[in-house]
Amino acid sequence: MDATLTFLGTGTSMGVPTLACACAVCTSTDPHDRRLRPSVLLRWREPEADEDRVVVIDTGPDFRAQALSAKLTHVDAVFYTHPHADHILGMDDLRPLSFIAQRRGGPIPLYADAQTTAVLEQIYSYTFSPQATYPTRARLELKPLADRNLVHDVEFVRIPLLHGDMPINGYRFGNAAYMTDVSAIPESSFALLEGVEVLALSALRHQPHPSHATLEQALAWARRIGAKQTWFTHIAHELGHEETNRTLPENAKLAYDGLSVPVRL
Ligand SMILES: [Zn+2]
Ligand SMILES: [Zn+2]
Repeated sequence: MDATLTFLGTGTSMGVPTLACACAVCTSTDPHDRRLRPSVLLRWREPEADEDRVVVIDTGPDFRAQALSAKLTHVDAVFYTHPHADHILGMDDLRPLSFIAQRRGGPIPLYADAQTTAVLEQIYSYTFSPQATYPTRARLELKPLADRNLVHDVEFVRIPLLHGDMPINGYRFGNAAYMTDVSAIPESSFALLEGVEVLALSALRHQPHPSHATLEQALAWARRIGAKQTWFTHIAHELGHEETNRTLPENAKLAYDGLSVPVRL
């Protein structure tokens, strides 16, 4: 089945431009150098239901603007990678979409591991607490993340990753995978990536960082995984789009906000 993977945001946690920074990338006039917080959207057509299916991975602080740009009119499910602010703080902006989901049959399922669930329940206690009574709270249902998760018959396979010393989740779906905030890929996770043809992988900058891969580390993983095309995301302001892409091989480039690529489910 054909599907489209859209990069809703390709920036690092602070976004690009970064507040109060006047560097060449932050002041660039190239729209590819404007990066919202990291998120992707997978969209496919379910022929039997004659419906578009929409899955979002992470809802960061820019989710509302991203959903407007992508003209989202409904969301079938959300997967979370880990509970850092740049990946979860837009969750409440699912509210209007959750009312639509509720009218169509039920709350939007949010797939999250135990640590992410605990943080979401704490921040959004007015949404998730059994005592929550706020009448227009989001209609969302936290679902424990399994190794394999089905959304309208499409399988989302959890890819265990490390972000510093925090275990986090990447996702494989069909011939594609999304892995952000990665500083190490456990050996056993490479097996789950066999046959991946479209890879979205985080690559922060050139300088080492304790919890993010450098562009050079990410390139080495991209070569090993061997996807036909790798797109780098979660990019800091040290990497200008054009300038960096000139140095990269044809099959491994910096992604940009709004980029859509075909994938197969
Ligand atoms: Zn992040
Ligand atoms: Zn800057």
